[in-house]
Amino acid sequence: MAADGSDHRGCPADAHDGKAGGIDWQMLRGAALEVRSRAHAPYSQFPVGAAGLVDDGRIVVGVNVENASYGLTLCAECGMVSSLVAGGGGRLVAVSCLGPEGLVTPCGRCRQILFEMGGPQCLVDSPKGPLAMSSLLPGAFELGRRRV
Ligand SMILES: [Zn+2]
Repeated sequence: MAADGSDHRGCPADAHDGKAGGIDWQMLRGAALEVRSRAHAPYSQFPVGAAGLVDDGRIVVGVNVENASYGLTLCAECGMVSSLVAGGGGRLVAVSCLGPEGLVTPCGRCRQILFEMGGPQCLVDSPKGPLAMSSLLPGAFELGRRRV
């Protein structure tokens, strides 16, 4: 049960069903929901699907891929970002991640990964509404443009 009293189990719907921030969140959640069914999560039984809107209008998706060694598990956001880069790159504008009971927010590592590909303005879906990466990861590590 979410803090607002609504139940998000298995359903991506929440309080910001419209187009908050000019983003079609329902469409993005639909893509995350569809891909979630292909997650490889035999150990945790916690399948996650991630969908990202790219600045050129593409939608990229990813799923979590668990491993028997647990520590090698890949988050859905990792797969999504790999798909983004392999597909030619671009900047993430908005991201939606769905776990088995509805929206989930990215783990710490994935917040840094999303920050790299979307910057501080990238919006991340949450039950409380879209959250900017700058609020999800204040003080994000940035190497800058310096080349080694
Ligand atoms: Zn993660």
